[in-house]
Amino acid sequence: MTDGRKDDLEDLRDAIAACRICRDAPARGPDHRLPHEPRPVAVISSSARILISGQAPGLRVHQSGLPFNDASGDRLRLWLGVDREQFYDPRLFAIVPMGFCFPGYDAQGSDLPPRRECAPRWRSQVVDAMPQIELVLAIGQYAQAWHLGDRRAATMTETVRNWRIHLGSNIGPAVLALPHPSWRNTSWLKKNPWFEADVLPVLRDRVGKLII
Ligand code: SF4
Repeated sequence: MTDGRKDDLEDLRDAIAACRICRDAPARGPDHRLPHEPRPVAVISSSARILISGQAPGLRVHQSGLPFNDASGDRLRLWLGVDREQFYDPRLFAIVPMGFCFPGYDAQGSDLPPRRECAPRWRSQVVDAMPQIELVLAIGQYAQAWHLGDRRAATMTETVRNWRIHLGSNIGPAVLALPHPSWRNTSWLKKNPWFEADVLPVLRDRVGKLII
């Protein structure tokens, strides 16, 4: 990597770390300010060939600054066939959610969707800064909408089910759509056994080849 690119990535990381848009200039006006201090969590890598594109940090990740440092992360690592050391090695995995900061909770106590300010402000810049990425793991509907665009099906299940088409596409890096590894999707996994039987072996094989 050239010194110029290294500096560009450092500048980008610093700019994201300093971002306070959702606190100071929320897209939907002052009533929609982020109710806590922003803490952007994203791993931008100069060498990783796999980009994990998730939704937004939960409270635990907001507190620790470590993405997927929870039960969802444990399940995701199982799906990928990697241990924590490999997963948190920025030379192997870039981890860039659709919203970098914990968005807070809705009235029912569930995590809100990724902040709408984040992707338009940062995502293209971050993706363009990592041209070495060969595989994007698009986790959940927001990442799938951004990375697949018109290629996304009407439902998340159909989008995931079309994995062979997405992996075989010639448009940019290969994209594999995944459901969120949250416990909330345990019943989805039971209803869709083809995911563990057909998709996960291919995923593990791809990941194994891209992290050596
Ligand atoms: S969610 Fe994104 S746009 Fe909003 S403050 Fe955090 S880094 Fe900035």
